Amino acid sequence: MKRILLLWVLLCSFVVLHAASVAILEKAEVKKGELRLHFNKTYNKSKIHHFTLRHPYREIFDIPHARLKNRYTGKHLHSVHCRSIRVSQYKPNTVRVVLETGRGYACSPYRPLLSYKSYHIPLPPFTIKPSKHVSHKKTKTVIMHQRISHKHTKQKSPHTYAYMMDIPKVYHQGRGELVVIDPGHGGHDTGAIGGGKREKDLVLQIAKRVEKQLKKRGFRVYMTRHTDIFLKLPQRTHIADMKKARIFVSIHANSVPKSKRNVAQGVETFYLQKTRDAKSQRIAARENAAVLKGASSSLSKKVIIDSVLAGPKIVESNKLAIDVQRRILANLRAHYRGVRDGGVRHAPFWVLVGASRPSILVEVGYISHPRERKRLFTPAYQEQIAKGIAEGVQRYLANRKREIEL
Ligand SMILES: [Zn+2]
Repeated sequence: MKRILLLWVLLCSFVVLHAASVAILEKAEVKKGELRLHFNKTYNKSKIHHFTLRHPYREIFDIPHARLKNRYTGKHLHSVHCRSIRVSQYKPNTVRVVLETGRGYACSPYRPLLSYKSYHIPLPPFTIKPSKHVSHKKTKTVIMHQRISHKHTKQKSPHTYAYMMDIPKVYHQGRGELVVIDPGHGGHDTGAIGGGKREKDLVLQIAKRVEKQLKKRGFRVYMTRHTDIFLKLPQRTHIADMKKARIFVSIHANSVPKSKRNVAQGVETFYLQKTRDAKSQRIAARENAAVLKGASSSLSKKVIIDSVLAGPKIVESNKLAIDVQRRILANLRAHYRGVRDGGVRHAPFWVLVGASRPSILVEVGYISHPRERKRLFTPAYQEQIAKGIAEGVQRYLANRKREIEL
């Protein structure tokens, strides 16, 4: 009897404890391009099961040990970024959130800083087209909203979704077009060094993966170096010109002095242009160092830069840079947390001077940052970067083709 009583007490306490562990979803709201869920107490976000369903495309979040506060919680939620937002008590202790977005996007929910009770789900960066019967007035509102949400996107830093674009449906097939891939540095020029690792080795590893990814998509690839050799910078773009390449991509890794090594991280893509931005100037100065050492004094830097600036390739290079940056970010963020977006910038890189085709320089990450360095030397991480670069090139060419067809 004593034993039965003990079991009964244990069972009761289990039920009480279990009931106490259920969090109440007090409020669900759409704010600043996000769906924000607010619980009555600390909620461990790792319990949430996030998955997608197709036809139509939906992002689904199953939130266990949670209950809606009442039957009005999460009702009547609307956003121009979703066809519908549904919050329901899916099972007795599981709340389900369904975002019908119509198409995919890289969705990375997060717990906001300084709050243990909230969970934010970024909505897609794109807006869902209103159906045909919607009046002109409504369309205008949608466009305005789009503009506003774009502004928000720029201000948000760690969880920005500006580059989490949907996966492009139509890709450009290479059909033998030539892309020159230029792994930076080489030979006696090691590039940046961090934690005993060298930039020249890293960028060669990544470049070889980019080569494979592009070939898989039907492109021809010319590598300015395939081994650990030194090439003068002008030689690199000259090769691109001689080979009648369609696109030129130089691959590098970034670095900062010791005092900032835990701070600076992320992916940046550059195209050639004069700049007043001090940070871009610093990066360019570091990458230019090797060629400037051997450059003849009669070679006027200004003349060359100006001649390139006058060409139409800057606009094209800028577009290429945007596509490549977006695809690298989307691929990395689909698999890794906290990948920083350094954005598309311009700087007077020597390697890009004289290239008479869309030319960009990708700084794939900071070799000086301990965590990022570790990731950069991981094959899986390198593969995502390589895939991103190849997809960016494809996307850029697909858009040019569409422009011509229009
Ligand atoms: Zn470099």
